[in-house]
Amino acid sequence: DADRLVTADRRSEDLDQDLRPQSLDAFTGQAAARANLKIFIEAAKTRGEALDHVLFVGPPGLGKTTLAQIMAKELGVNFRATSGPVIAKAGDLAALLTNLEENDVLFIDEIHRLSPAVEEILYPAMEDFQLDLIIGEGPAARSVKVDLSRFTLVAATTRLGLLTNPLRDRFGINVRLNFYTDDELQDIVTRGARIMRLPMEAEGAREVARRARGTPRIAGRLLRRVRDFAEVAQAEKVTRDVADKALNRLDVDAIGLDELDRRYLSMIAKNFGGGPVGIETIAAGLSEPRDAIEDIIEPYLIQQGFIQRTPRGRMLTANAWGHLGLAAPAAPRE
Ligand code: ADP
Repeated sequence: DADRLVTADRRSEDLDQDLRPQSLDAFTGQAAARANLKIFIEAAKTRGEALDHVLFVGPPGLGKTTLAQIMAKELGVNFRATSGPVIAKAGDLAALLTNLEENDVLFIDEIHRLSPAVEEILYPAMEDFQLDLIIGEGPAARSVKVDLSRFTLVAATTRLGLLTNPLRDRFGINVRLNFYTDDELQDIVTRGARIMRLPMEAEGAREVARRARGTPRIAGRLLRRVRDFAEVAQAEKVTRDVADKALNRLDVDAIGLDELDRRYLSMIAKNFGGGPVGIETIAAGLSEPRDAIEDIIEPYLIQQGFIQRTPRGRMLTANAWGHLGLAAPAAPRE
């Protein structure tokens, strides 16, 4: 599904290093998270100590990696990045950890996907800045402790519930990121257009923002496609009309839902009378992995009030029926 605008493979289309804000002040939105981080960073710098370990929680594309990079920059330390699925063996993580310098930031994306053996290594590293390594095998095996530099682990996950309790407990700072408002996204789009030297009217930026699914990464992608469209159409600047035409071609609807979102909603409507229907059934019906549905599709639909999670499964709301242009079933369910 190459056309999916939010893919599980999140880095593949991120050509937008140049669009990434480089400081907390340049970062739009997430005001509460930013204010807290600013204080923690200031305090750590004043004490000359490593910042407490930080866990970012929230749907893909909301700025977790960007904030982690900004933190390292503001702390004036090195930034090292990896991700849960990439660290195959305990030794891989050990190698990363022993290479860190004092107060460095180690960023682990998708930390919920660390293997249990690797997670074991991480506990003493986070707590005591020590590695417990087993050298050798069988009767000759012995355990050695290796001291590490004091570092800050900044980790990201899409859902807090995916983390084991012992891992979750080892983060001193928890930061939840929320979907962005249209105003915030409009600022982000306007800034992006300026960086790309793309002439854009406020109404054009607004249109892209409204249809970006509350997500800066999607705003960036839509903006690029709008630019392509504007170039081919030889439009002098991106007006609301130009943006609208470009976005319609991408199959992004008036409120920013894409093809997969609509498939999700209409399947529950047409095949299950609006629900409740279990997540496994939905996953099978859409031929999409359950995790992707829970991480990528549902958070926004829930936030927009299109579906409800009940103990018996997902249910469409009146809003969703309205958006699909269908009549809700007459008898109230549940
Ligand atoms: P995550 O790690 O949460 O998946 P990223 O930090 O990789 O998200 O952000 C995705 C993209 O969106 C980045 O390329 C970045 O340029 C952009 N972005 C994220 N947050 C903001 C923001 N607040 N302002 C501007 N651009 C942002």
